[in-house]
Amino acid sequence: MEVKKEKEKNKKKRELISIVVPCYNEEETVNIYFKEMDKLSKEMDYDMEFIFVNDGSKDKTLEILKDLAKKDDRVKYISFSRNFGKEAGMLAGFEYAKGDYITTMDVDLQDPPETLKEMIRLIKEEGYDSVGMRRVSREGEPPIRSFFARCFYKLINKMSAIEMVDGARDYRLMTRQMLDAILSMKEYNRYSKGIFGYVGFNTKWLEYKNIERVAGETKWSFWKLFKYAIEGIVAFSTVPLVVASFLGVLLCLIAFIFIVTIVVKTLIFASPVSGWVTLASIVTLIGGLQLLFIGVIGEYLAKTYLETKKRPIYIVKDTNATK
Ligand code: UDP
Ligand code: MG
Repeated sequence: MEVKKEKEKNKKKRELISIVVPCYNEEETVNIYFKEMDKLSKEMDYDMEFIFVNDGSKDKTLEILKDLAKKDDRVKYISFSRNFGKEAGMLAGFEYAKGDYITTMDVDLQDPPETLKEMIRLIKEEGYDSVGMRRVSREGEPPIRSFFARCFYKLINKMSAIEMVDGARDYRLMTRQMLDAILSMKEYNRYSKGIFGYVGFNTKWLEYKNIERVAGETKWSFWKLFKYAIEGIVAFSTVPLVVASFLGVLLCLIAFIFIVTIVVKTLIFASPVSGWVTLASIVTLIGGLQLLFIGVIGEYLAKTYLETKKRPIYIVKDTNATK
């Protein structure tokens, strides 16, 4: 009896890892993923909870998740009323997570589950607050996509004080303390690569080679990625606005030099002012620049507008989880 009680006590003392898994049209992958994770959980000395977020899937993802939840009480599902995007999915999972350690993973097994062991070891034994995964190769990805991705990271790291690591996945294990810091960032336009960087803490990066999806297709089109990149810049840098002011000052200076030249030419050398082509091109150039930067300011204004509305980031339609 005593022994049993002791065992029970030990069991209760096990720490909990929450795994947040956003899913959008993933009927082909959910079961494969869970099988892998179930296997892994048996090898680890931690309790686990799986928070699957169904991000408005149009296929059978929700049915499969409900089925899993019935069979295994570690499985929680949160189902959105429509597709809100992966960022919203991660946030929902984080808000519902109860774990001492929290991670988010793709359901397509592109994030190697095995490394979870190493991640938790690094946090527990070496005192890191978070351990992330970084892709050092982009095999299996269209070369043009990789090229733009690299350019993007170079650009944003120049433009923003927050460090964004090239190839960093969302897959990372973190402590409760770090997660609470992330949750305290209440912005509507969430860009987690920036948010993770913003909260700081001590992060260890594990490097790995890109792994292709087990099944299904990527949800990212080139256009979607481009928009995501712009969002990242607007959310974590105001450099484009500074560029606007800088160019404004520069153009004023040039204009001033022009004026002086013209005045001198007319008064001293009495030569007539000529060249409407030059004039026309200058007017178009400046007009174009003005429109461009009105656009840039518009981007920031639009984000501010959306922030002030304080709309919910996601809407839950169905769940078996509690906050
Ligand atoms: N995902 C999501 N909502 C979306 C798009 C994607 O929850 O609107 C999920 C998707 O199911 C997957 C993860 O986010 O678990 C990463 O998506 P994907 O594999 O398409 O991205 P990639 O790995 O190609 O960057
Ligand atoms: Mg993927």
